[in-house]
Amino acid sequence: MTGKRLISWLFLGSQLLISAETIFAAPPKSFEVSDVAASSSCEGKYIILKMDDLRVKENNNLSQSWLAYISKVKELNIKSSMGLIVEEVTKGAAPFNTELMSLHKDERFEVWHHGWDHKRRNLLPKKDNLGEFAGTPYEYQYDHLQKGIVYARDVLGIEFLTVGTPYNKSDETFVKVLHQHPSLKVWLYCQDESFSGLCLKRGPSNHLEDPIGRVSYTSFLTAYASSIHPYLVLQGHPDMWDKESFAQFEKVIGYLKRHKACFVLPSEYYRIRKG
Ligand SMILES: [Zn+2]
Repeated sequence: MTGKRLISWLFLGSQLLISAETIFAAPPKSFEVSDVAASSSCEGKYIILKMDDLRVKENNNLSQSWLAYISKVKELNIKSSMGLIVEEVTKGAAPFNTELMSLHKDERFEVWHHGWDHKRRNLLPKKDNLGEFAGTPYEYQYDHLQKGIVYARDVLGIEFLTVGTPYNKSDETFVKVLHQHPSLKVWLYCQDESFSGLCLKRGPSNHLEDPIGRVSYTSFLTAYASSIHPYLVLQGHPDMWDKESFAQFEKVIGYLKRHKACFVLPSEYYRIRKG
């Protein structure tokens, strides 16, 4: 084969690859409002599953517990959002990153910004910071929020639309920093109603897990009964779940389905409320 022919074959190959990517790529999560009418009426409550702490674990991928949770969501035909600690992406774990990318493209899942490193650093001047976005300086918070957004976009191709702070702790500095990143539209367990996006609160007695890491059907029933909003955001940590927690989780989902709940992703609920 001549050099010229080889080049033209290579060119053709790259064109085919590009068009295959275009055809098979899932539509990005966005705020197009075409499906608003169809999903804006729900007979029961809107349920948002807020699952925290995606990290790199065994075999440079998600842990077995996380993978079991993802399978369970598919099996139960529901939807779930998951909070990524973005620094994990920098650890160079290709299987983990690939898994995240395919999850976010899947219409049943949404990956969101759960901080850069999730750490309490006890920084000066107060030495009493409660979390990454509470009690820490403005520059620190801006940097952590910003680089989380940039890494997810550049390395994973994920445009974060939702944020939830580590330990659900925030301060007035965080609200300021958040408003400087208007691409973040939804705040899970929002603590400040001045947030111009969608402020989804925890509400009283809202615990899917009791204690943290163990799903409790009884605790969920209290959360459901005390919920004063048309939505309920249920928080969990699947990495900590054992068999019993998975069984309790199924019981919770069964109850919600019997009560005609609608499982939505945070970005989807944004469209319903603000679209
Ligand atoms: Zn967390």
